Amino acid sequence: MKLPQFELHRPTSVDAAARLLADLGDDGSAFSGGTELLLAMKLGLIKSRHLVDLKGLPELHGIELRPGGVWIGAGVTHAEIEASPAVRAILAPLAVMASQIANMRVRAVGTIGGNLCFADPNSDPATFLSAVGARLRTWVRGESREVAPEEFTVGPYQTVLEPGDLLLGVWVPTPPPSANVVHLRMKIHERPSVTVAAMVEASHGEVVAARLAVGSVGPKVLQVDLGEELRGLGGSAYSSRVGALVALLAGSIPLLPERPESPEYQRHLVRVLSTRALEVGLAAATSSAGRPAQNGGGEA
Ligand SMILES: Cc1cc2nc3c(=O)[nH]c(=O)nc-3n(C[C@H](O)[C@H](O)[C@H](O)COP(=O)(O)OP(=O)(O)OC[C@H]3O[C@@H](n4cnc5c(N)ncnc54)[C@H](O)[C@@H]3O)c2cc1C
Repeated sequence: MKLPQFELHRPTSVDAAARLLADLGDDGSAFSGGTELLLAMKLGLIKSRHLVDLKGLPELHGIELRPGGVWIGAGVTHAEIEASPAVRAILAPLAVMASQIANMRVRAVGTIGGNLCFADPNSDPATFLSAVGARLRTWVRGESREVAPEEFTVGPYQTVLEPGDLLLGVWVPTPPPSANVVHLRMKIHERPSVTVAAMVEASHGEVVAARLAVGSVGPKVLQVDLGEELRGLGGSAYSSRVGALVALLAGSIPLLPERPESPEYQRHLVRVLSTRALEVGLAAATSSAGRPAQNGGGEA
């Protein structure tokens, strides 16, 4: 696999990068860590003759605690998220999720923005961010806009961005004190085959709000607000309602065609991981009420 020749551009502002990419059209590609783009070029899947390095854009860097949440620039690496005291202060499961991505080498250069923009269905961040109600800030034809993670992806390897548009960063709101976030994944191959994230808010052992996101099996992340269905439930009533809802979801979720795993097995994994995420979410939310959201993440 040989990298084809290309011309390298190093803009130093979002505006300059966006204008350059818009002018280059299909002949230009942006990159941050390059872990996806360079591989796709070596495989001949992307044939851009101009590469635009986004690492010199100050607007895309940094993790900042702000009132109501944390701002993460699109050019922030998974390793920086994993090590960030600001992320750990408000949402430790996000740091844990980042620590489980790929391997140390990919995490050191691969960015959250590159992950979301490449839109490989087999990935973790979009699922996690959807469950916690994060918002993505984009630069679209010279204007800053906001979009939900589950709407940013249109399908496999496709986002709402057009040539010349950029992802600026991610706004992650601080979860309510009595909420807990759980991110689970099943990795059969190099990348996750199923990702499930749940945010459950509880009071005195009963659900106040619940959101579930399922990714990696379908063309894009599916987010479901279960607040109406689960509010006020706890104990066995909660478990039995979760069982019914999750069975319905697993049976109807759109799946990608031509996957190595059978549809039955994928639906089984969705059911098991979703049930576990919601059960652990409620148990942990009940025991950790009043503390910042803590982790219930991990490999299935
Ligand atoms: C071996 C391996 C294992 C992996 N395992 C996992 C895993 O377990 N879980 C998981 O979630 N992911 C996994 N990944 C994916 C990894 O997270 C991504 O490769 C990485 O985050 C991409 O970031 P990057 O900065 O290198 O992207 P780049 O390669 O630089 O860019 C990727 C794409 O995004 C576009 N882009 C980048 N930044 C922007 C921006 N700011 N605005 C607009 N477009 C932009 C580029 O044009 C390009 O098309 C794995 C990857 C590898 C190689």
